[in-house]
Amino acid sequence: MRTSAGDKAQASEAEVETLISSSHSPEETKGRVKNGFFHQMVGFCPGTDRVQMLFSLGMKFLGWCLGFLALFLIGMVTYCWFTDVWPFLMDDKGPIPTLSATILGIWLLFNIVFNHQMCSWTGPGFAKKIGETYPPEIMKKFAICPELAPNETARWCRTCNTYKPWRTHHCPVSGGCVLKMDHFCPWVNNCVGFLNYRYFVNFLLYLWSGTLFYMYFGYEVRFSAYGYMNSSEAFDFSYMLCMGIWCAMGLFLFMHGYLILTNQTTIEMWGRRKNRKFIGLNNIRHIYSLGCWNNLEEVWGKGAWYTWLLPSTRTPPGNGFVYPLRKEVEELLHEDRREGYLDGTDNNV
Ligand SMILES: [Zn+2]
Repeated sequence: MRTSAGDKAQASEAEVETLISSSHSPEETKGRVKNGFFHQMVGFCPGTDRVQMLFSLGMKFLGWCLGFLALFLIGMVTYCWFTDVWPFLMDDKGPIPTLSATILGIWLLFNIVFNHQMCSWTGPGFAKKIGETYPPEIMKKFAICPELAPNETARWCRTCNTYKPWRTHHCPVSGGCVLKMDHFCPWVNNCVGFLNYRYFVNFLLYLWSGTLFYMYFGYEVRFSAYGYMNSSEAFDFSYMLCMGIWCAMGLFLFMHGYLILTNQTTIEMWGRRKNRKFIGLNNIRHIYSLGCWNNLEEVWGKGAWYTWLLPSTRTPPGNGFVYPLRKEVEELLHEDRREGYLDGTDNNV
């Protein structure tokens, strides 16, 4: 006998709860619950505890060192502008062009520092901890996560002992499951994920622009006979440093531009799952891609595009637990054995 869409959805919900609770019953997980700082840092594999702990502590230490080093280098470049470039420009171009260039430089500097600090101090967004619950409509979607392996009913973190929302990965350095995790960045001493990815990309963009700006206006100071005779060693070092950073940022921007336009994270690009529970998805390369413009809006939000690079503390669209899918992917999920789960639901919950 044929059932209605509502009945199917109800049956599916009951099935999801049964599957999930039977897979991760309190009795089964009792021995795995370790919530201390040490265990969050090191994970659960006894053979690799010490290695993981050392790696995590090393990354944290490196993060503090590189975070301060980044601020020191930004300060040094700013200092060299006023001790070496400013006097040269005043002599060569006059006060108005020098002041105009300096105002533009201060704007770039402000955005570099703002995005670096916001990326550093804004948490990437974490999965709910043990004991905290998700709304039922989100629980239903955990059971149709496109990344599920054939034997999974929902993604589960054995370290945190809790559900892993879509696109979430455990970060041993942060000690939690990070929403839409991209990578741990030692230069901002923070994990980059759902809530701070926009700051990270804007930081790359402004750093690339700022070093280009410094190289352009410092060119004659560095390479002309007059400038070379009068420039300081600190300026020469800062100029070479900016050249290196500009090249590195160019490569990073190229990579993250590709990731943003295809709606992927760094982890998803390198670790694409080949054996999915929903076999119809195995041949789709970019599951979460919604089209170029929509993919850009997934990072910078749905506001006016010309405000995307302005300093702002707005959060990205969505809740970070589940993500919208394009129609083609939804249809494949429908065609698979989970038919009914998406009935009457909205992907933008
Ligand atoms: Zn975890």
